[in-house]
Amino acid sequence: MTPSTIRELLAARRQPTLSLEFYPPKDPLGFGILGGSIERMRPVHPDFVTCTYGAGGSSREFSFAAWDLLGRMGFTPVVAHLTCVGASRADLAAQIDRIHASGIRNIMALRGDPPRGETTFKPAPDGLAHASDLVALIKSRHPDICCGVAGYPETHPEAPSPADDLRHLREKVDAGADFINTQLFFDNAAYFRFLDAARAAGIRAPILPGLMPVASAAQLDRSLAFSRATAPQKLREALQTPDPEAARAAGIEWLVAQIDGLIAHGAPGIHLYILNQARTILDPRLAECLARWRKASS
Ligand SMILES: Cc1cc2nc3c(=O)[nH]c(=O)nc-3n(C[C@H](O)[C@H](O)[C@H](O)COP(=O)(O)OP(=O)(O)OC[C@H]3O[C@@H](n4cnc5c(N)ncnc54)[C@H](O)[C@@H]3O)c2cc1C
Repeated sequence: MTPSTIRELLAARRQPTLSLEFYPPKDPLGFGILGGSIERMRPVHPDFVTCTYGAGGSSREFSFAAWDLLGRMGFTPVVAHLTCVGASRADLAAQIDRIHASGIRNIMALRGDPPRGETTFKPAPDGLAHASDLVALIKSRHPDICCGVAGYPETHPEAPSPADDLRHLREKVDAGADFINTQLFFDNAAYFRFLDAARAAGIRAPILPGLMPVASAAQLDRSLAFSRATAPQKLREALQTPDPEAARAAGIEWLVAQIDGLIAHGAPGIHLYILNQARTILDPRLAECLARWRKASS
């Protein structure tokens, strides 16, 4: 039987896991398109999928609908993301109970970002200030839920120092987090440095590297703007071509090289921020890379 939690899945794995991240569409047409994308992605057989959370009332419902769609279409286990944005403790408790009642047993516990234009996060009245508080709340209500948390190879932008950020990551694990999923990065050296520093700080939880395929210089810039990660000049140069197909190919080649390097050095899995795009994951160069690693380690 397939394990229902990521904790069990990572403990039982004989090979690195492949996970895909989705985001919820905003209307019925978008849900139809997402359903079609999932159908096309079936041959990829991800080990698990995650889907992001929008905190507002309607966005929240779209997240629940997307988790439900992924589960109904057999893309399981589903990891439901949850943030502290705009929610009181009682509201979050109700969301956690609702997720549990829907059968989902994995939550990515996040604080969420400050609103656009603000640099500091202000919790809602009677809300939670840090992701570690959310992990503790989840575990206190449903100890059978497996919790993932975010880790930042290039340090979270609000943290005064990498050491402070790692201390807070340790607090999330001490509160009960079962695994860590990293922010995207384009230079594997950042992941390996982070891994060493996390282990030196006593963090033992598996750390899944998060990678984003980019198909153009503009897409790279957008991903750097929201993640505040950095990109090697070589990647930027490779994407600077007037031919969109050549840029797409360069982005895939970069991703494949990152995956090969991570797997060769023992990463527990690969998490792909695929932005609902079937085309990327079905690219023959990426498909060949995934098949190679899964075959080699099976
Ligand atoms: C894998 C992944 C998935 C994501 N999914 C979503 C999503 O679905 N929806 C969404 O809105 N956003 C999402 N985000 C973005 C995330 O919400 C932001 O990066 C946010 O700014 C921080 O969230 P966090 O959970 O890391 O917060 P925290 O772990 O709370 O950390 C935030 C900052 O506070 C500091 N800090 C933590 N604890 C303390 C403390 N006790 N005292 C002082 N400082 C502290 C940390 O060092 C860090 O600088 C995701 C990010 C990642 C990496």
